Amino acid sequence: MSKHETRASEALSERFEAAFIPTYGVPPVALARGEGSKVWDVDGVEYLDLIGGIAVSSLGHAHPALVEAVSRQVATLAHTSNLFLHEPEVLLAERLIGLLGVPARVFLTNSGTEANEAALKIAIKYGKANGRTYFVATENGFHGRTLGALSLTGKPAIRDQFGPFPIDVRFVPYGDADALKNAVTDECAAVFLEPTQGEAGVVPPPEGYLRAAREICDATGALLVADEIQSAIGRTGHWFAHQHDGALPDVLTLAKGLGGGMPIGACVGLGQAGTILAKGDHGSTFGGNPVSAAAALAVLDTIESEGLLEHVRTVGAQLSDGIAAIDHPLLAGVRGRGLWLAVVLTADRSARLQAAAQRAGFLVNALQPDAVRLAPPLVITSEQVASFVSALPALLDEAASDD
Ligand SMILES: *Cc1c(COP(=O)(O)O)cnc(C)c1O
Repeated sequence: MSKHETRASEALSERFEAAFIPTYGVPPVALARGEGSKVWDVDGVEYLDLIGGIAVSSLGHAHPALVEAVSRQVATLAHTSNLFLHEPEVLLAERLIGLLGVPARVFLTNSGTEANEAALKIAIKYGKANGRTYFVATENGFHGRTLGALSLTGKPAIRDQFGPFPIDVRFVPYGDADALKNAVTDECAAVFLEPTQGEAGVVPPPEGYLRAAREICDATGALLVADEIQSAIGRTGHWFAHQHDGALPDVLTLAKGLGGGMPIGACVGLGQAGTILAKGDHGSTFGGNPVSAAAALAVLDTIESEGLLEHVRTVGAQLSDGIAAIDHPLLAGVRGRGLWLAVVLTADRSARLQAAAQRAGFLVNALQPDAVRLAPPLVITSEQVASFVSALPALLDEAASDD
């Protein structure tokens, strides 16, 4: 592409760099609009969006149901604060409880990390009432960037410089049920786990790990907190990823795909865990605001009415099988479930693969040096999946070459 054609992108990138605290570096593409699973940058270049704003844009871009729900709600009542209640938040909480199918109670937040802060407050209060003094989380696990959630995050590079943290968190290798068993005693307040580790590289645990965690928590009385911020709301072809394993957590946290792009998260306490926090224990001015709640309801309704869980299983298998069938020296394989996959490489070339994909009109995410994440909108079509699968061998060639 000529310099002229990237003019708007370059100008915007320069202004971005000058205006922002550089926590993200400068992202490689400046997006202007989207429709379905397609997006266009500020210079009009079209891409197939295979990352969906990090597993967030579940209905794709500008889905009519989301547009209608958000527009109607913002034109009716945009905000109440928690001094007043409103119907969309009640409907949403009831809807989430209904999807879980067990008695539960909900706290609505604006983001994933805040959902985990609420879960942590539940766990701390439970621990203090029962002489339980520490928490267990997993190495390489990701739970968010605010200090409570960060204290549970098992990535030293993003965690350690902001410590020490006020709570005692012990980290165990992910997927190792014996290590978990050894770490969890009757002095442990809670175990925080992702049903599949997301930021670590879309890493599913061995079969039975979540059930083992459930048993360990039952035996010791520790709460099991499932961080499903990335894995839920249809991403794996089920409403919740823990449903694959048939193990219910005590506390469930949600965000990303729930609002389809509008900021909303939820901390759900199942059974008794829903009764631990009491009046005055927690709050959020914006949490569960009417517009985000209306968006989440539209997402849940549309997943149901368009049969998207089934669709995710079908096109997810098509994507995964299609990648697995490629024979290429740079391709080690594919892991993950549904429309949440990592293309695993035999060398640390993910940044090159991401760049090659972008040049060819596909947005993917170099998540780890050797792994590229795919988390497209749940509405991605079979034809769109096929277009990426057939382009991938040439992209791998490019990523493998040294020039
Ligand atoms: C993204 C994510 C978070 C943090 O969510 P934010 O909305 O970025 O605060 C926490 N846990 C998991 C598993 C995530 O994927």
